[in-house]
Amino acid sequence: MMAATTATHCPYCALQCGIHLTKGTTGLTVTGDATFPVNNGTLCVKGWSAPETLTHRDRLLTPLVREGGERGNPLVPATWDEALERIARRFSEIQGRHGRDTAAVFGGGSLTNEKAYLLGKFARVALGTSNIDYNGRFCMSSGAAAATMAFGLDRGLPFPLKDIPQATTILLAGANIVETLPPLMQYFEAQRSRGGTVIVIDPRRTPTAAWADRHLAIRPGTDAALANGLLHVLIRDGLVDEAYIRDRTDGFEQVRQIAAVYWPEKVEQLTDVPAALVVEIAHQLGKTPHPMILTARGPEQQSQGVGNTLAYINLALALGAVGKPFSGFGCLTGQGNGQGGREHGQKADQLPGYRRIDDDGARAHMADIWGMPASAIPGVGKSAYELLTSIGRGGGVRALLVMGSNIAVSAPNASTVCERLKALEFLVVADFFLSETAELADVVLPCTQWAEEEGTLTNLEGRVLRRRKVAEPPAGVRSDLDILSALGQRLGHRRQFTYANSEAVFEELRRASHGGPADYFGITYERVENEQGVFWPCPSIGHPGTERLFSDSFPTPNSRARFHAVSHRSIGEDTNEEYPFYLTTGRVLGQYQSGTQTRRVRALNGIGSQPFVEIHPATARVIGVAAGDRVVLTTRRGSATFVVKTTTSIREDTVFAPFHWAGEQSANRLTNTALDPTSKMPELKVCATRIERAALP
Ligand code: SF4
Repeated sequence: MMAATTATHCPYCALQCGIHLTKGTTGLTVTGDATFPVNNGTLCVKGWSAPETLTHRDRLLTPLVREGGERGNPLVPATWDEALERIARRFSEIQGRHGRDTAAVFGGGSLTNEKAYLLGKFARVALGTSNIDYNGRFCMSSGAAAATMAFGLDRGLPFPLKDIPQATTILLAGANIVETLPPLMQYFEAQRSRGGTVIVIDPRRTPTAAWADRHLAIRPGTDAALANGLLHVLIRDGLVDEAYIRDRTDGFEQVRQIAAVYWPEKVEQLTDVPAALVVEIAHQLGKTPHPMILTARGPEQQSQGVGNTLAYINLALALGAVGKPFSGFGCLTGQGNGQGGREHGQKADQLPGYRRIDDDGARAHMADIWGMPASAIPGVGKSAYELLTSIGRGGGVRALLVMGSNIAVSAPNASTVCERLKALEFLVVADFFLSETAELADVVLPCTQWAEEEGTLTNLEGRVLRRRKVAEPPAGVRSDLDILSALGQRLGHRRQFTYANSEAVFEELRRASHGGPADYFGITYERVENEQGVFWPCPSIGHPGTERLFSDSFPTPNSRARFHAVSHRSIGEDTNEEYPFYLTTGRVLGQYQSGTQTRRVRALNGIGSQPFVEIHPATARVIGVAAGDRVVLTTRRGSATFVVKTTTSIREDTVFAPFHWAGEQSANRLTNTALDPTSKMPELKVCATRIERAALP
């Protein structure tokens, strides 16, 4: 018997707010879990309205296949046997004819840890393909790569949220917390009420920037220049922590040399942040006892996203802040399981536990757990955008399984990606709604939703949490774990894909992660339940978990953190006469990611539920449009139509459009595919656009 009220977590963002779900005569109702030490009972509107998706009339209730197996025919209902048989047969045929790597898997940062783990195992063991990646590549990959390079380990926040109120000065780069993580604001409110200062770096005067003490309205794409400028002043004015740099870091001399050429006046020219303000903010950071630097997608989703993040990390290291209480550096993860989803094997270069797939020791460890020779584990595969654009090209991907992602909306250059998806020989999508990606599929598999399944997720602090089953799923849908197990078995791997339940998958994940950077071995379902979550790394059952990382040393070969010399580089495409404005994209309060769920929630209608573009009134006058008019934005990749919202909160040379919508209103039709060379992150945050009044409909 399931209890009438169950403690679980919101299905959406990386805060993973604690909620109580109560069964009533009209369905499930949500209350905030006041005992959960992350949100402390508070929720945003998405959390309050989350149960609406469970009973939505658009819910997929049966597998769908193309009638007669022909592209161009309509999707028609099928039995699970028919659908699974068709998938196993087509994947086998295509791989048999063209090679194993022509099959690929695309996952998501909202999948539970168990699903992310099993998806990686499915790709490597059942399909034997190197080609698996996920939508977190478009989200956290630059922050993750930079943290690994500098600290030897990537955990978005290497300290718990409860440290934030005691930070004395916080530099927040490219994060709009008021709209994207509202319950997190309680920590910043507490920090300011204790006398702390918050400085926001953002091209837009977002609600977060307006709330903060200071706002630096940076020119899009110039974060590394600004961070280097701040470091220049810190060094020039003797405000760096020389003892910390000497005792705990390497590489500062090269960074000192680079920073020397970013004097404030030059930084003003590059970034539009006044030189005096650069000096003032540097002094504020250099003289405060507990500086904290936080980044998010603003600096990270750029073709120099890793460099931008490293430049902010350099600042935190030079201040001696990393590894000290109430101080340091962190990246704010966005997707629901953006942290755990990047640790357990659904990245192209990675094995579970955050191990590298090109590490012989890691391969031997996983071969033992998966019951196969290490030589049979594929190597590094294509990153997300490279995987998608390989479709239809010689040696490229021909068959694709998508789970937990709506690529047709969330990928950059979305029109081209949709064309690539149509060029596949076989596309399978598992989802609970007929997403824009599922509409293109040959087979659609209906799966369970958050409150209908058990599992674990890892929030933005690195705290592993339990997701609880509260409702029975509708007849006819299956969990992603069941789907992967059934397919693995049909592909001839019965032994490796037989699990009693999600806990059995987690038990295997624990062993798989043991000894790796993200070690979950000491974490069990029971502990997570009893301890309000457990922080990884947790290498043994008796281990308390690790709230704060880097206190004594860094997990690098010599235990020291590494500075990286970073120069400012121009963005992938700058503005010119033809494309005179910067376009930046992001999220709004009432929507989440590609909108597959939130666009269907009535309670969210009216809260930014229509696509729009923010334009400065002066810019609108020049273009000859006013609030409420429709405009077409055009970039080198395509066009999209939006309703104008005029606001003085945005720079005159920049416009902002949220990316939650599809088709004619898809901001990702416009976004740039220039990739960061290290993280392979596309430049989603900035590209050059022109704006024209839309023709009357
Ligand atoms: Fe859910 Fe995130 Fe809102 Fe919390 S902040 S209620 S986790 S969407």
